[in-house]
Amino acid sequence: MGRIRRNDTVTVMAGKDKGKTGKVLRVIPAINRALVEGVNLIKKHTRQTRNDQQGGIIERECTINMSNLQVLCKGCNRPVRVGYSKLTSGEKVRFCKKCNETIT
Ligand SMILES: [Zn+2]
Repeated sequence: MGRIRRNDTVTVMAGKDKGKTGKVLRVIPAINRALVEGVNLIKKHTRQTRNDQQGGIIERECTINMSNLQVLCKGCNRPVRVGYSKLTSGEKVRFCKKCNETIT
């Protein structure tokens, strides 16, 4: 289980999009990268290949290294470090290391 999961709200801590916040669209654990809504946009030039397609420049997200991301805690309302704790049931939960709020 990774620190960051799909549908988490994360903040970018480094790089050209530093300070941006977005929703995690996809996590790719094998390469330690994630796709975050509105973050690391790249311009893609497309050509009109069919009549129902528009040519020109479109922007789309490119994956970003997860070490540059931190989960936004709803309790603190800022990016925080995430810890793990094990419940008596054996289930692992994530929590905010600042306010101890459980992150779901
Ligand atoms: Zn917190």
